[in-house]
Amino acid sequence: MVETNQNGAEMQNGAGAKTVKAGEEETLHDVIVIGSGPAGWTAGLYAARANLEPLLITGDDYGGQVSITYEVENYPGFPEGLSGPDLVEKFKAQAERFGCVVEYDHVTEIVVDEHPFTVRTAQSKEYRTKSLILCTGARPRFLEVPGEQEYTGKGVSYCATCDGFFFRGKELVVVGGGDSALEEGLFLTKFATNVKVIHRRDELRASKILQSRAFDHDKIEFVWNTVVTSINGNENGVVSGVTTQDTQNGAEGEIATDGVFVYIGHIPNNDLYHGKLDLDGDGHLIADPFTRTNIPGVFAAGEIADKVFKQVATSVGQGCAAAMQAEKFLASLEAEGLPDLNEDPRAWPTPGVPSKPAELVAAD
Ligand SMILES: Cc1cc2nc3c(=O)[nH]c(=O)nc-3n(C[C@H](O)[C@H](O)[C@H](O)COP(=O)(O)OP(=O)(O)OC[C@H]3O[C@@H](n4cnc5c(N)ncnc54)[C@H](O)[C@@H]3O)c2cc1C
Repeated sequence: MVETNQNGAEMQNGAGAKTVKAGEEETLHDVIVIGSGPAGWTAGLYAARANLEPLLITGDDYGGQVSITYEVENYPGFPEGLSGPDLVEKFKAQAERFGCVVEYDHVTEIVVDEHPFTVRTAQSKEYRTKSLILCTGARPRFLEVPGEQEYTGKGVSYCATCDGFFFRGKELVVVGGGDSALEEGLFLTKFATNVKVIHRRDELRASKILQSRAFDHDKIEFVWNTVVTSINGNENGVVSGVTTQDTQNGAEGEIATDGVFVYIGHIPNNDLYHGKLDLDGDGHLIADPFTRTNIPGVFAAGEIADKVFKQVATSVGQGCAAAMQAEKFLASLEAEGLPDLNEDPRAWPTPGVPSKPAELVAAD
């Protein structure tokens, strides 16, 4: 529930008191969800259905990565598939139907070392909330060459699991030299007749086991010391080839292809979290399987915390889990008060609740 107070009264909540200056109105939210990708909408839906009147702040990339997805064919419940933007509108309609409030704004700062937490936005708004669900996702690193944007969804892809199926019997190019490039390249051999891995150096960053699988595969070829300088299309408006440049002698080349899969890195949207929440070496939030971060009441879902599965279906599942955890946290806040914010909740025995383990309660 949202608590509103005016004219200098003390606003009490499960976490203690907050003073509101005379004449100002302060709204204390139970849950704020940051991000409007699959994880964010699902967290908003579940929190709304739990009667928590969540506020969801969309961010500048409305809909997240799905909104640049031409066709989603692997999200259950839609046997015919649907466009990414259509799926986003369905997510939004369902969350709003149960009372999720949507703000089209971008978060510029969060304060999580005092409770209630504070969220500040680009439109100079400031919110207070008892719990936070962080769903700020990630973005693929783009090649940033001519043709890339134009042919995204028309031969350019960043997800073999999502789009490999569309390239049965086709010739493909994979750009990159790390684990993802080789994993996805190997996956694409199930569909393609040939996969050329274009790498800017003459050795790979990928693990040795993936390298030997790729080197041994009769459908995979390597194009070394080469970068893609443009992605080209044909009269049907789909990819027909790439222009390349040799990184050693500058020579230009052309490679004919039906599709370009780009794996040159995945960047988590973590600007808000540096120095505030635990991040791993790649910049993802470190959340446990119950979506708990190192601060009680702050949860993370979707690609901001998941660098393994990176799918709509998995992000949706994590968004659901985070909202259920937030609900548990709010109940425990009400019943037991605010836990020490310096205590890492990932060590709590019960997910979301700072209770003692059953054996300790029995011993008291
Ligand atoms: C081209 C492409 C095609 C894909 N195709 C498929 C597919 O067919 N099937 C499939 O299962 N998966 C597909 N994926 C992967 C899928 O889109 C992602 O796994 C999924 O979108 C991740 O969801 P998310 O909610 O974690 O984050 P994202 O979708 O990354 O959304 C992040 C959200 O956070 C918001 N945000 C970021 N920073 C802030 C901030 N400071 N303040 C407020 N909001 C903020 C952004 O605006 C955005 O709304 C594809 C990905 C790409 C790039």
